[in-house]
Amino acid sequence: MIDTQDKCHSSVEELLAEKNQRYTTHRKSIVRVLFELSKPASLSEILAVASQRSINLPISTAYRNLAILEDCGVVRRLIASEDLGLYELAEALTGNHHHHLICEQCGDVNDLSSNSNLERALSRAAEMVMDQIDFQVTGHRIDLTGICSNCNKVDSA
Ligand SMILES: [Zn+2]
Ligand SMILES: [Zn+2]
Repeated sequence: MIDTQDKCHSSVEELLAEKNQRYTTHRKSIVRVLFELSKPASLSEILAVASQRSINLPISTAYRNLAILEDCGVVRRLIASEDLGLYELAEALTGNHHHHLICEQCGDVNDLSSNSNLERALSRAAEMVMDQIDFQVTGHRIDLTGICSNCNKVDSA
């Protein structure tokens, strides 16, 4: 489990080195922003936080480097809606297994921490699948979609 940003940076450096990539200043800036946000963020959110911190991160550089970081298993991209990709640090890197809650109305995405009951239910579901088809389940990525509490309030007001 990665609990400090220093540990995070050294693990990222190792992952990049496996693919002969260097941990450049721009890449470090992106990882720093994602670590601080600690929730899935869009490219524009990443750029906004970077500029608040006076980090120089041009949009094309950010986009290109996010793709490389994704390739090296540092970043995971999830699709919140048809036109919105969000980025977060990969589970393999942080050791923080979790799921996502995606609001269909406002597009807000939040982490849902897992617990043993939920994981047991999900592994039962995986066993059911493996009973029916020839597929070895080794993990899962679960995003729950729905209406967040903010949007719910607006609706019932
Ligand atoms: Zn919402
Ligand atoms: Zn899970």
